[in-house]
Amino acid sequence: MNDPRFPELTQRQINILKEYGTIESYDKDTRVFSLGDLQYDFFAVLDGTVSIEDPYNDNYVIVAHGKNEFSGDSGMLSNRAAQFHAVAKSGTTLLRIRPQHLREAIAKHSDISDVLLNAFLERQNTVLNEFTGGMKLIGSGNSKHTYALRDFMEKNHIWHNFLDVDVSEEARELLQNFNLSEKDLPLFIASDGAICQKTSLDQLARYAGVLMDFEDKVFDLLVIGAGPAGLAASVYAASEGLSVVTIDSNAPGGQAGKSSKIENYLGFPTGISGNDLANKAYVQAQKFGCNISIPHKAERIEHTGEHFILYATNGKAIKTKAIMAATGANYTQLPIENIEKYEGSGVYYSATGMNISACKDELVGVVGGGNSAGQAALFLAEHAKEVHVILRGGDLGAKMSDYLVQRIEAAPNIHVQLNTQVKELHGEHYLESLVLETKDGERIKKNITNLFTFIGARPCTDWLKGLVATDERGFICTGPGIAEKDLYRCDIFRKRKPQSLETSIPGFFAVGDVRKGSVKRVASAVGEGSMAVSQVHQFLVESNNARESVEA
Ligand SMILES: Cc1cc2nc3c(=O)[nH]c(=O)nc-3n(C[C@H](O)[C@H](O)[C@H](O)COP(=O)(O)OP(=O)(O)OC[C@H]3O[C@@H](n4cnc5c(N)ncnc54)[C@H](O)[C@@H]3O)c2cc1C
Repeated sequence: MNDPRFPELTQRQINILKEYGTIESYDKDTRVFSLGDLQYDFFAVLDGTVSIEDPYNDNYVIVAHGKNEFSGDSGMLSNRAAQFHAVAKSGTTLLRIRPQHLREAIAKHSDISDVLLNAFLERQNTVLNEFTGGMKLIGSGNSKHTYALRDFMEKNHIWHNFLDVDVSEEARELLQNFNLSEKDLPLFIASDGAICQKTSLDQLARYAGVLMDFEDKVFDLLVIGAGPAGLAASVYAASEGLSVVTIDSNAPGGQAGKSSKIENYLGFPTGISGNDLANKAYVQAQKFGCNISIPHKAERIEHTGEHFILYATNGKAIKTKAIMAATGANYTQLPIENIEKYEGSGVYYSATGMNISACKDELVGVVGGGNSAGQAALFLAEHAKEVHVILRGGDLGAKMSDYLVQRIEAAPNIHVQLNTQVKELHGEHYLESLVLETKDGERIKKNITNLFTFIGARPCTDWLKGLVATDERGFICTGPGIAEKDLYRCDIFRKRKPQSLETSIPGFFAVGDVRKGSVKRVASAVGEGSMAVSQVHQFLVESNNARESVEA
């Protein structure tokens, strides 16, 4: 069977691609891109061979691309650095295509896009799961700061190698060699060898090429939040020719990205992990030319009447004609005084593959009675010794879907503690035990070392600072849900009412969990994000017409 990572392009596809690039011949072995190069080119082999070599492993040849095969991976669609060296062998003829021209070809020719993107995604999976290498992060397995960096790299699919200074001989040797000490941790070594001490998230993201600055351009649409709602809006808007920029403070996928398995999303009968869904949507949006920058947190927004100007962390202001809030909602913390001490070192708000090794043969707690708690409990039960589902109420089925309740009841290592709350957390550096309290006041100590909490959320709307109308909890009002008195006084709203996903300011839309009255499901968030794009088009036509009539 053909290897899906290394398909061949047909002669017709090669002929089409020739319009986007240049042909080059090599009479001796020549490096055509190197590990760490940003904006590296795509190569299709017309004759001869290009070998992809692994510099982390004595330039071991991972694959030799032959005639009609091609180099590249999904990092080419954004700004990420090359992960390997590529060498054109003597006597080889290549078609070289610049990344921006490759993106044009991908957006225009769907059969070429299918071949390239399938191979790119397969290659990314292989690299992340089977290869050791990438950027090196040295830190303590018990440090909150280091956990945040690792979490960011995992969620953003940044190929890396973590060395835990508490257990790794190599980590300690490297520190010694660089004449550094534990106070310089977390230490980050980029693929080009650059070293960064006490690494911040922004430094790491810039090296990885996922954090971008935007020149003084006015975009058609700025999407804030790359969860299901924001990614759906990005895919539809970019595929319909709008210039789109999407920012997120954390990682693509939002809450859905944290779900170990989504089983009720249409078209995936055996379920899909949130991470997988998010990664595919992230690549899909970029394939249509959407710029996605992470971590880029919206802090404040201005409305000039003509444009919106967004001020975000770590970047210049972003100017846009229309804006879409897709910032979802944030988890509620357990009301325990020292909870922050354990966040990232025993207390978590999602259960993903990264937690598996820490939970192996351990006692694990899951707090909450919704579907997210149920899914996490089932997922963790596959690895932990015991999972304790801790619930303030007295009925597991009150908020959880029946299929999850049945599976939890059937799992031999899941124990449900009804009418119970977590009262205390203990452990010197990381969570070692906790105290539960029942309705009758009985206190029980459990040696739970990993606690996953899923107890509700509040909307992420601090950055709005009152610009558009919200309800008393901060969820954004849209369409007929906006009181007449809150509507922005302007020509557009004198002629028509806000569209169903439009806020109290024309051109400002809200979709997904952040919107008042939303259903809080992946499918509805995706539906709203897609639907809102047609409303953006209507707004852009209206504001263009208004501008033209003023100019005339
Ligand atoms: C563990 C878990 C399991 C779930 N399982 C299911 C399921 O099986 N089926 C189902 O239908 N639903 C499920 N849900 C619910 C579903 O995930 C949400 O309804 C959906 O993700 C909402 O999408 P959204 O895009 O509106 O918001 P979110 O997914 O919350 O995404 C919002 C994004 O905005 C970003 N953001 C926030 N503030 C800012 C800011 N100031 N600047 C920039 N970016 C910002 C966040 O980082 C985030 O990425 C689950 C939720 C969780 C937590």
